[in-house]
Amino acid sequence: MANRTAKILDCETCSGTGEVIADWEKYLEQHEDALAECDDCDGKGTRSADPEHAHIREAS
Ligand SMILES: [Zn+2]
Repeated sequence: MANRTAKILDCETCSGTGEVIADWEKYLEQHEDALAECDDCDGKGTRSADPEHAHIREAS
């Protein structure tokens, strides 16, 4: 029970923001649409650390 929160990690792809920079030119000009939803965490900024997903990363 105490370790329940340890199963959720910050997404490494977007550093926990849920967004990734899709267009650097727009990003530098501070356009709103420069950011896109992160595919790895579906825009949530966190991802599950459960073993079912872990083995996929090890395989590649
Ligand atoms: Zn992410």
